[in-house]
Amino acid sequence: MNRSFSELNRYGLKRILMRANLQQHRKMSDIRFRLYTLGAGIAGEQKVLDYLKNLRFGFPFRVLWDIRLEVSSRQYVQIDLLVLTPTRAIIYEVKNIGGRLRFEDNPARLDKVDADGFISDSFECPVLQLEEEMAGLRQWLEMNRISSTVDGAVVMTANPVFEQAKKDGRVFRLREIRRHLATERTGPSGRSGPQIEELAKLFMRAHEPYFPFPLRNQFNIQENELYWGPICSDCGELVIRKSERTWICRACGTRCKNVFEETLLDWFLLKGRLISSEDIRHLFSLADRRSASWIIRRFELDRIQDSRLVLYSWDYSALRLPYRLNE
Ligand SMILES: [Zn+2]
Repeated sequence: MNRSFSELNRYGLKRILMRANLQQHRKMSDIRFRLYTLGAGIAGEQKVLDYLKNLRFGFPFRVLWDIRLEVSSRQYVQIDLLVLTPTRAIIYEVKNIGGRLRFEDNPARLDKVDADGFISDSFECPVLQLEEEMAGLRQWLEMNRISSTVDGAVVMTANPVFEQAKKDGRVFRLREIRRHLATERTGPSGRSGPQIEELAKLFMRAHEPYFPFPLRNQFNIQENELYWGPICSDCGELVIRKSERTWICRACGTRCKNVFEETLLDWFLLKGRLISSEDIRHLFSLADRRSASWIIRRFELDRIQDSRLVLYSWDYSALRLPYRLNE
């Protein structure tokens, strides 16, 4: 398992912003905000992963991230970071929120306050989130007849200042993870290294990634609200085709090489899950059918025959990308 789905989501949001930029779309601030929180989330998780990578203890442990498990019909538990030790399954709910923070009740939330004490932002209570995830994980373990203690903590990775300590001691800074993990009670009853690995495989097999695509649905953007044709990968402006594979940006003059691939990937990430060869020809103003089949082959699209209509779909879970994503 890798980080690719959150990365793809992030890439898709950037591309939607580029396309929205052409028309100064009403949803731009929503998309920017989502992009910001997603980026902060990925950065926070990365900090914890890097920290965990360098820890050594006298017992084996295994780290899994971005795990999504079905706990009952269409009910899922989403776990940022899961650490499997000989006796515990530990959830670390990562929050990359800095500044002055205050836990509040009724309703449970985390408020960010400015220098004058006014609330500048309000978040869902991460302790409550953690408790829900722990309950979900317990349920999943029971369903699968796996015995393990479920433990967990909220890990704040952006060094916030708390106005008051959270009483139950479940909110950590990054460096407290070491102490928390070190409380492991090792003994003959715990799992061995290979048994932990076995359990990790079980989690990975059960993992059901969440596909947010096409992203426009999340923001309630209609098909006709965005420009879908080829755009410059640098500035998002319109490009003109100069030769078979080269497109030149009208605004910044960049020579764009992956225009076919980027445009088609945008279709699948942002616009819809199916495309016809007619759509492809229209998208790139292609004169003949052969050019469309070239790109269908290059993308390894799956052919779906619906009576007389032939449509193509992209296998999202396989993540076969025809080029490296620009980050
Ligand atoms: Zn450009």
